[in-house]
Amino acid sequence: MQSMERLLLASGNRDKLSELTALLVDVPVQLLAPADVGLDQLEVLEDGVDYAANAALKAAAFSQASSLPCLADDSGLEVAALGGAPGVHSARLSPGDDAQRRARLLELLAGHPQPWTARFVSTVCLALPGDPQPQLHFAQGECRGQIVAQARGVGGFGYDPIFVVAGTGRTMAEFSFKEKNQISHRADAVARIKPQLRAAFGLDGTL
Ligand code: IMP
Repeated sequence: MQSMERLLLASGNRDKLSELTALLVDVPVQLLAPADVGLDQLEVLEDGVDYAANAALKAAAFSQASSLPCLADDSGLEVAALGGAPGVHSARLSPGDDAQRRARLLELLAGHPQPWTARFVSTVCLALPGDPQPQLHFAQGECRGQIVAQARGVGGFGYDPIFVVAGTGRTMAEFSFKEKNQISHRADAVARIKPQLRAAFGLDGTL
């Protein structure tokens, strides 16, 4: 029997890892987390100019360290009133935890007229081991909505409790895990990378 191909999810973020794992459940590959291959201490400096550059840095670093195909996500929240900020800097908008970053975002938005139109963006990078460099494939996804001042819901992570998904009246944190994985920017990006993933693993034609 042929052994299943392996794909390393190049992320140290537990929330992203569980979302990516759920989003890839229909792809017949064995999904690994950095801890499964002894790479949970691997830190990648995310100093790229955009999501694609950061996703590439992460996917390539993990691929080179493991000699495995790797998938990385770099994502962020873009708010129109702030000229697209915090964008690629979303994880570092303020020191502290997610609640402190949400508070900082609302502080920056105070004084700007509502609605605070925004979108979540995710760029995924698939790195396939190659010599001398891994081969890189990219896909981007988005989810449109707006920021609200009052946090609602307990699901998700990051800015989810203050992001109302367009056309729903619900914050992303008010969606179940399963529902978020049908509408999120990460779901969109992963759906768009699947053809390349299937081609890379020779899965075309399989269910
Ligand atoms: P990075 O991709 O590791 O640079 O981090 C992305 C940051 O963007 C996270 O730390 C969150 O602050 C924010 N973010 C990305 N995706 C989501 C999401 O699905 N929900 C809420 N916040 C998110």
